[in-house]
Amino acid sequence: MNRSVASFESHDEDGDPIRPPVRATKGRDEMAEESFRGQSVRTLPRANKRYQADRTCAAPGCRTKLSIYNKWDYCWQHEPVHTYIARGKRRSRKEMEAA
Ligand SMILES: [Zn+2]
Repeated sequence: MNRSVASFESHDEDGDPIRPPVRATKGRDEMAEESFRGQSVRTLPRANKRYQADRTCAAPGCRTKLSIYNKWDYCWQHEPVHTYIARGKRRSRKEMEAA
């Protein structure tokens, strides 16, 4: 009588080793279905990443319309600066030293 061992080793009640469910031999149709899994057959929740249409800037008094593709709540004037990349004229080293 050593049931604990039996349960420790993964054997079923008949003493046969429990194997992970092996996929039964597949028919051709099933295989074809599998290959389509990557593509979405169902309708996508959203075709495009869009935001609410007809939004205006959230800044008080500003009525600038926002693009539906604009993910911010403010227009370009009122939106707090995120990452501003200076595109101004670069000063050469010589000019920097002169300044
Ligand atoms: Zn604004």
